[in-house]
Amino acid sequence: MSAKYIFVTGGVVSSLGKGLAAASIGCLLESRSLKVNLMKFDPYLNVDPGTMSPFQHGEVFVTDDGSETDLDLGHYERFTHARLSRDNNWTTGRIYEQIIAKERRGDYLGKTVQVIPHVTNEIKAAMKKVGQDVDVAIVEIGGTVGDIESLPFMEAIRQMRQEVGRENTLFVHVTLVPFIAAAQELKTKPTQHSVKELLSIGIQPDILLCRTDRFLSKEIKSKIALFCNVEEEAVITAKDVASIYEVPLVFAHEGVDALALRYLHLAAKERDLQQWEELVRRVYNPKDEVNIGIVGKYVEYEDSYKSLKEALVHGAVAHNLKLQLNWIEAEGLEADEASREAQLEEYDGILVPGGFGKRGIEGMLQAIRYAREKNVPFFGICLGMQTASIEYARNVCGLAQANSSEFDPATPHRVIYKLRELRGVEELGGTMRLGAWTCKIEPGTLAHRVYGQLEISERHRHRYEFNREYEGVVTAGGLRISGATPDGTYVEMIEISEHPFFIGCQFHPEFKSKPLEPHPLFRSFIAACYEYRQQRKARRHAEEVEMFLRPEKLARR
Ligand code: GLN
Repeated sequence: MSAKYIFVTGGVVSSLGKGLAAASIGCLLESRSLKVNLMKFDPYLNVDPGTMSPFQHGEVFVTDDGSETDLDLGHYERFTHARLSRDNNWTTGRIYEQIIAKERRGDYLGKTVQVIPHVTNEIKAAMKKVGQDVDVAIVEIGGTVGDIESLPFMEAIRQMRQEVGRENTLFVHVTLVPFIAAAQELKTKPTQHSVKELLSIGIQPDILLCRTDRFLSKEIKSKIALFCNVEEEAVITAKDVASIYEVPLVFAHEGVDALALRYLHLAAKERDLQQWEELVRRVYNPKDEVNIGIVGKYVEYEDSYKSLKEALVHGAVAHNLKLQLNWIEAEGLEADEASREAQLEEYDGILVPGGFGKRGIEGMLQAIRYAREKNVPFFGICLGMQTASIEYARNVCGLAQANSSEFDPATPHRVIYKLRELRGVEELGGTMRLGAWTCKIEPGTLAHRVYGQLEISERHRHRYEFNREYEGVVTAGGLRISGATPDGTYVEMIEISEHPFFIGCQFHPEFKSKPLEPHPLFRSFIAACYEYRQQRKARRHAEEVEMFLRPEKLARR
């Protein structure tokens, strides 16, 4: 079977939501029973985003096979059933790495190695691999049209149309139609320029997804159609929405899927978006809310914990709740106790997410101590599990100097230390314990109740591990090891049984949560938080009644 290809490019500015657009098109095609796959090309020279700062690049999304990929792959997995791997995300760096290895081996038989055809051939081969065994392969090109870096990718998709045919390729261009307040007008010029730029490299877009904050009138659409050489019907209003899960519905309403099928000469079933409609209905009609505090680093940058945020939304929506997320810079909690308590008191649950390096660790430990002592639901992910173990060792088991060798290499109590399999490995790129690994859960634990099964598979990305030499001390103190690798090498989950909800996991469950299949850990964590919220409310109410009935008691206090 030869796939049809949809190429998604972006114009005018970055951050227009190309990844979400690609994912939403995939979702719509799946809703018509087509099989899709998605991939992204990133035009930078890093081999993968694994070594890049979350400030620069946002979250690193980890796939089952342990690839460190762009966060857009997270959208692809959440919106479709495509199974993604290292084949689905390529950077310029990785393409060149491959070509240079071939050149050094002598594979090019004395030829001059050039961008065209060698680089473009490599890019096309990667696309065709993803196109195997599916009806449609959706290919997103990172960056913005006009960037020098993305030219080889643009050239490769131009060639693809020549090679596999007009009826097998579709060019979707995501662009911006801004509303200029001073003129009270929507402006089409940036879109015109962007399409002109595309035309100059030989690509005529078929569909324009116009990002805008209001509906495009028929006049505006026909103006864009005329200047950009596309059908009026193919000028799509991609209006801003409050929830990303509404995007497929917006596209469906604008007929994007029907249009794509027509251009691609593809027959498909009627669209069935019932589950998505139900999801969006729930997102917009919550019965109550839940207030979660995330204590970490990089928290002021929204993209650094993309999957985590979405997984929490999934957990909240599963209970018809609206998620109030509060990002708390861990360093800010290190100061005095009173201000820390005043800050943390607001939340129905506290979460410490993954992270690297020393900054903010003491603040995280304080937040964990607060959650543990005050019975506030706590969820620690990766670094969050490691810090929870340290906090327990310090404050419950009396090992005041307990630490991770990541933060204090000289600590006498290395409760967390470098993964034994990584001793002596100093290189940073791709050297962590990565991807999906099996974890065996202890029967009768909270983890067991949450998952409802004793064997799970979750994705990892870490360089340090729990030191089992300290297992005796911490378990005697009451911490429970609730999950480990089947051979017992690595601790995967910890919990405190007497606490309403206190779980730490070495893996990243957020990578596997989907809006239609919320992850059990997030679903249960949110349920515990909501329960805590209700109890707290009831307690406060009772206190108020008490004060009203017995003011003398209040006076004595
Ligand atoms: N820095 C810790 C480690 O490398 C935690 C990593 C993470 O949270 N992803 O093990």
